[in-house]
Amino acid sequence: MERDRLIWELQGLAQEEHALTNESNIKSMVDELRNLQESIKRAEEEVGNLLGSITASEKEARELEKQVNTITNQVKNGKEKLYGTKGASLKELLSIQQSVLKMDEDIVKSEGLYLDKLTEIEAQKDRHSQTREIVRSLKKDYNDKLKIYKERVRQIDLELAAIRIKQEEVKERLEPAALRIYQDTQKRFKMNPVALMKSNSCTGCNIEIPMVLARQIKEGKILYRCDNCGRILINSF
Ligand SMILES: [Zn+2]
Repeated sequence: MERDRLIWELQGLAQEEHALTNESNIKSMVDELRNLQESIKRAEEEVGNLLGSITASEKEARELEKQVNTITNQVKNGKEKLYGTKGASLKELLSIQQSVLKMDEDIVKSEGLYLDKLTEIEAQKDRHSQTREIVRSLKKDYNDKLKIYKERVRQIDLELAAIRIKQEEVKERLEPAALRIYQDTQKRFKMNPVALMKSNSCTGCNIEIPMVLARQIKEGKILYRCDNCGRILINSF
């Protein structure tokens, strides 16, 4: 019967519409994009932090270098004094020698620190370029996935538009009274307001339909609602 087929088709279209607007694939795509955005943000922050560390380390390295030069000059002066001073007492010479030795040790220590700092800077620069590479690849991944997501959203919009056109066509072909009953029942059963009658039973709630009523439903003269669950009952095709 034409009316029953139209009502059944209307329910099918509502289900398709629901499936499209609630596509879990889209939700997981959005989640993935959001996670990627977070990762990019974190990696970019790390790049910034590493740059700050490199600048600080380079400043420290320059200071260490200056320190080495200062002490080297002091040693040079001390040695000149040690070998050039005439008439100094043994005690004075010993004292100068002591401080020259001490400064030599300081030079070795500061040079060691300076070299360690240079190694540290190299390591920081390596990490900086690795992290920049990570940012680059995360951004590529994000843009690729965004493209796929946008394409899917576009497809869904097209499919939804097609469904809505069909829905309007079906509604126009349906008797206004039947449409009203359908829409009214849909308020209670959003996704399945229509149940098929199979072997004289409502497939919505499985209750058996009295013979007389079942015959009338088969004849399709009036649109019945199941006494038990309230769904529109139509004979199975
Ligand atoms: Zn029922």
